[in-house]
Amino acid sequence: MPAVNMMKMNSIGVYIHIPFCLSKCPYCDFNSVASGSVPEARYAACVLKEFNACVGKEGIDRQKGLGSVYFGGGTPSVFSPAAIGGIIRGVTDGFGPQEPAEVTLEVNPDTVDAGRLEGFRKAGVNRLSIGAQSLDDGLLKMLGRRHSAKKALNAFRMAREAGFENIGIDLMFGLPGQTLALWKETLKTAVALRPRHVSLYGLTIEEGTPFGRLLKNGSLSLLPEEVEIEMYKTAIDTLAEAGCVHYEISNFALPGYFSVHNSGYWQGIDCIGLGAGAHSYMSAPGWGRRWWNALEPEQYMERIALLGNAVEGSETLKMGEASAESLMLGLRMLTKGIVRSEFKQRFGILPEDMFKRLKEFEAEGYIKNTADSIILTPKGALISNELFSNMLA
Ligand code: SF4
Repeated sequence: MPAVNMMKMNSIGVYIHIPFCLSKCPYCDFNSVASGSVPEARYAACVLKEFNACVGKEGIDRQKGLGSVYFGGGTPSVFSPAAIGGIIRGVTDGFGPQEPAEVTLEVNPDTVDAGRLEGFRKAGVNRLSIGAQSLDDGLLKMLGRRHSAKKALNAFRMAREAGFENIGIDLMFGLPGQTLALWKETLKTAVALRPRHVSLYGLTIEEGTPFGRLLKNGSLSLLPEEVEIEMYKTAIDTLAEAGCVHYEISNFALPGYFSVHNSGYWQGIDCIGLGAGAHSYMSAPGWGRRWWNALEPEQYMERIALLGNAVEGSETLKMGEASAESLMLGLRMLTKGIVRSEFKQRFGILPEDMFKRLKEFEAEGYIKNTADSIILTPKGALISNELFSNMLA
């Protein structure tokens, strides 16, 4: 059994959204804007102003301690090491003397060189997530990525030379024109780098994106579902051979390298989201509360400057919503699953009291149901979305 580096149940994660990119990829519907000049100093000051205004309030208790810091985007690596370091220091100081276990920076290979990578490490980043997406130049071009496969591989090697040990890589499958042979080649090349973590994303086409329009007018065709499933299965086998644990539906890691921050989301651990469009979640009081910021970066900065917060909306969870969410997130964790005692302690009922189709899914081999936990099987992981939308029906 691998060392499970899940986040401590009583700590808090901090997510910082950096919404700027050098250009907009045609498949992307994340909250990001293409920006020639990034308002780094102004935005970083807003993030810290927002943090200082909310920590100690809204049920955010400093005493809980800081479990992880995660810079996501957009492209956080467009920021300088000095700006990233300033935010890390501000957030860490706000929580007290203890350093967070994990500080992750998402890195676009187009934005880094040896000096910047070393700067990020010295600034306090101890984990990189490199958004390679593919290691095939034709597919990278089709995706509108600015970097080549060689550049992605170089970014990985330079990160190692800069002293990073904990490096992960993101890859996409189910891409138009991607063959199983090309996918195998990408996996083989990626595994040879010995990444500590691998995240896999099947391409989804979102309305309102250039890819969405191309699909609508017939200029883009998706791979058949069975090919996509075959690619996912191939990845599972290849990464298992490389020693990676398939610990979450889309995530694999060497033992001891599960993402602390993302494990916090799946376990319903408190998280402060800072920056444009960022979401925050507090598990108490009651059944939990969520709030989110204005999406647009300029609007976010204006509101922070004026009010100290940029909250656009919030919701207070009801017991039914919080427990359904906990069931679904629990099933995403393929090694931990839904732990009966934890669920009962939090909601006062057993998972099967809500999970109406548990017996049926178990009989079909999608679920392993033991006295302690309920875990998705590899067969269940292949059709997880379908199971999640029907599990309570
Ligand atoms: S780099 Fe990432 S966040 Fe930015 S546009 Fe491309 S996919 Fe979206």
